[in-house]
Amino acid sequence: MLEDLFKMVTTRFNGDEKNETKEFRCPRCQNSCGADELQKNMWVCPECGYHARMNARDRIAITCDKGTFKEYDKDMQTANPIDFPGYEEKIGAMQEKTGLTEAVVTGECTIHGEPCIIGVMDSHFMMASMGSVVGEKITRAFERAAEKKLPLILFTASGGARMQEGLVSLMQMAKTSGAAARLSEAGVLYITVLTDPTTGGVTASFASLGDIIIAEPKVLVGFAGRRVIEGTIKQRLPEDFQSAEFLLENGFVDFICERKSMRRTIAHLIRLHRPPVKSSAETSPTEKSSDTSSSESTSKTPKERPASKENDDNTGSSGNASNAGNANSVGKSDSAGKSDRSDKPGKSEGIFGAHKNKPGKGAGKNG
Ligand SMILES: [Zn+2]
Repeated sequence: MLEDLFKMVTTRFNGDEKNETKEFRCPRCQNSCGADELQKNMWVCPECGYHARMNARDRIAITCDKGTFKEYDKDMQTANPIDFPGYEEKIGAMQEKTGLTEAVVTGECTIHGEPCIIGVMDSHFMMASMGSVVGEKITRAFERAAEKKLPLILFTASGGARMQEGLVSLMQMAKTSGAAARLSEAGVLYITVLTDPTTGGVTASFASLGDIIIAEPKVLVGFAGRRVIEGTIKQRLPEDFQSAEFLLENGFVDFICERKSMRRTIAHLIRLHRPPVKSSAETSPTEKSSDTSSSESTSKTPKERPASKENDDNTGSSGNASNAGNANSVGKSDSAGKSDRSDKPGKSEGIFGAHKNKPGKGAGKNG
């Protein structure tokens, strides 16, 4: 009996997942539901739609086609570049707790049959902070995408740079951004999916550099924390500051997509941006619009009246995005709208032309 009690106390202290996985208590609406129910609902609160944080393995399981995921650089482990006290022990403990070697998992897979390269950050591993290994794995994912001409999908989540690696962690921002630029030059599609929370050096580098930037509903996305900013600029910030919705309104995010529609939406975007091998009927937007009825026609209106009322335009498009019941219409209308206002390369024209003229830019790293 004492043993049982002791076991209970230690699991409480260690935050053993066995305790947590039995029941999920929603931090937003305070409703409880069973772990099974939560899992069936893709880790979205059945009551209020709160998108709970997911670990990398689960994210890969609900995103990739079954059995297609092949992991890259699985055993890459961090050193202790600035001899930070206790860093190795902390990494060891995290590895044991999460079953991961580092805070990002990268690899190759298909999504609805579309081959791509995917990277998923896991906030359960040291808040998915970006150290040398995270930076290197992300950079290699970019380089492989460029080399193989496969679209890259990155699910971002991070508390920022990893302070235990000091300057080395900050250098990862430049390194990953450079890799993103080279992928863009190679004319390959790069999609980022901002999940909760995406902050600090990750927001300030590759997370914000996607050709298409998707966010899950209500996720926190920002650079510095609210209090730091308020203290610096001596002003009150809006309530929804740093939410996905706020970023959408201000043009940092292309659209918001619910988790249940994410897989379909990503596959659809990949298909839309696939270099034309043969003329396939499914890439034609008119084809699909016939089967998605009225929501389709309303979702087209924002981009067709760009000059008239800018404010309406904003609310119109965010309205569409949050009505994300229909992933097809959301993905399509907003990605179409994006190509109007975006001047980034790697969009439809870029992807068709660019990579023919540019000989292997990403080939350097491959050794
Ligand atoms: Zn809830």
